[in-house]
Amino acid sequence: MSNLEQTLSIIKPDAVERNLDNEIKDMFKNNGFKIVKEKKIQIEKFEAEKFYKVHETKPFYNDLCTYLSSGPIVVMILEKENAILANRDLMGATNPKDATDGTIRKKYGISIDKNSVHGSDSYENSKIEIDFFFKD
Ligand code: UDP
Ligand code: MG
Repeated sequence: MSNLEQTLSIIKPDAVERNLDNEIKDMFKNNGFKIVKEKKIQIEKFEAEKFYKVHETKPFYNDLCTYLSSGPIVVMILEKENAILANRDLMGATNPKDATDGTIRKKYGISIDKNSVHGSDSYENSKIEIDFFFKD
């Protein structure tokens, strides 16, 4: 049965700063993702706080929000069969040290905080996150 999904992907400041956005976009395309919409933006800290609200009780929350708002990011809607899980697989583990070969975080991630990409983790969150950046 077909299950075409959309998910939200973010190329984070550490990767955009190193001009890796085109290489990372190529990885998505080469793995069968269609980039349906994309924009390069910089967000304010209060917006990062809203986006990452699920993590507000975590010790890394403040640094994470400072970081995500520290420079340009590329936000994309990716489309593919089972896109949400497929994107999580292609991203690799949160900590690049634990990510397996062939994943974006293994290839480009610097550290657990500067791990180059974000991807929605569930169907429900994909809807919320796509709306967050692309509701117009
Ligand atoms: N993060 C961090 N320190 C940690 C765990 C997470 O800085 O100990 C950051 C990291 O950038 C991660 C983001 O917080 O991508 C969101 O964490 P989550 O557990 O949702 O990981 P993800 O879904 O991005 O793999
Ligand atoms: Mg997450």
